[in-house]
Amino acid sequence: MRLVYLVLLAGFAMSHDSVARDKPAATALVIHGGAGVISRADIPEQDLDEIHAALDRALTAGEAVLSKGGTALDAVTAAVVVLEDSPFFNAGKGAVYNAEGGHELDASIMEGHSRRAGAVAGVTTVRNPIQLAREVMEHSPHVMLAGEGAEAFADTRSSIVRVARDYFDTPHRLQQLRKAQAEQKSAAVSGPGTYFGTVGAVALDRHGHIAAATSTGGMTNKRWSRVGDSPIIGAGTYATEDCGVSGTGWGEYYIRAVAAHDICARMAYRGDTLAQAADAVINGHIPRLGGDGGAIALDRHGNIAMPFNTGGMYRGWIKPDGSRGTAIFKGD
Ligand code: ASP
Repeated sequence: MRLVYLVLLAGFAMSHDSVARDKPAATALVIHGGAGVISRADIPEQDLDEIHAALDRALTAGEAVLSKGGTALDAVTAAVVVLEDSPFFNAGKGAVYNAEGGHELDASIMEGHSRRAGAVAGVTTVRNPIQLAREVMEHSPHVMLAGEGAEAFADTRSSIVRVARDYFDTPHRLQQLRKAQAEQKSAAVSGPGTYFGTVGAVALDRHGHIAAATSTGGMTNKRWSRVGDSPIIGAGTYATEDCGVSGTGWGEYYIRAVAAHDICARMAYRGDTLAQAADAVINGHIPRLGGDGGAIALDRHGNIAMPFNTGGMYRGWIKPDGSRGTAIFKGD
C-alpha cells in the first residue's frame, strides 16, 4: 500500500514538473521614469516620442532577462541602466543639478525573497548608480554607502564605469536649475514640482521572485547633501516575497511615510490587494501629509499598480499575459 502511494506520488511530481516545463511561470515587469507636475503643453511632441521609445527600450532590456529565465534582480538592473543612460530622465545622464551646479546621485535595489538590499547616496562619478547599489548589496557587508565613501568603494569594483562629473550635464536641466534659483524666495530646499524623472523598475521572475530598484538625481537646486527617499530602503524602494515597490515623488514625504514599505505592509498585515495598498499610500496618506508623487508596484501573481497623484508619471509595463505599453499622462 505504502509502495503504491509512493509510486503515485512520484508520478504526480513528474507530471507536475512536466507541466511546469511546458509552460514557464508568468513574469511581469513595471517601470517608471518619474512622476511630477507636467502637462502635455510642457513637453514637445518629439520629446514625448523619444520618452516613450526610451521607456520601451527599458522594458525590452528587462524582458530580455526575464524571458530567458533570468532573475528579477538582473531584470530591474537592466531596465534601470537604460533609463539612467537616457538624458530624458532624472537619473544618471540627465540628472538634475544641485545648488552648486553639480550632480549627486542616489540609488537603491532590493530582492524580495532574500531581503538583500543595497544603496548609494550622493555619488558623483558613477555612470550607473544602480549598479553600484547592487555591488554594495552583493560585495560589501553593508546596505548603504554615501558620498566619498561610496566613491572609494566604487574604486574597488572594476565593473563600475566611472565618468567625469560633467558627463551628467544637460542643457535642459541647467535651465531648470536657473529657473528654480530665480524663483527661490526663501531658504527652504526644493518644493513640489522641482523634481521629475526619477527612474525605477519592479520585476517578477519565473522563479516567483520579486526585485525593485530606484535611481535618481534627487531634487533640482538641492543643498547640504540632501538625500531623498530613492536610496532609502523602505521609503523609495522595497520588496518582499509578495510585493515590490519603487516610488517617485517629493522624497521628504516618502521618507516620513515609509511609503514603499507601507504598501507591502498593508498587503501583509491588512490583507489589502496590491491595488488597494498602493492607492491608500499614494492617493491617501502621502497627499494627506502634504506630499505628492507616484509609485509602481507588483505582487507575486504579476498584478501591477501604477498610482500617481500628479499630472503625469512616465511609466511602462509588461503583464504576465505578455501585453505591454507605455504611458505618460493620466488616462493614457
Ligand atoms: N523622490 C525623488 C527624491 O525626492 C525625486 C523624484 O522622485 O523625482 O529625491
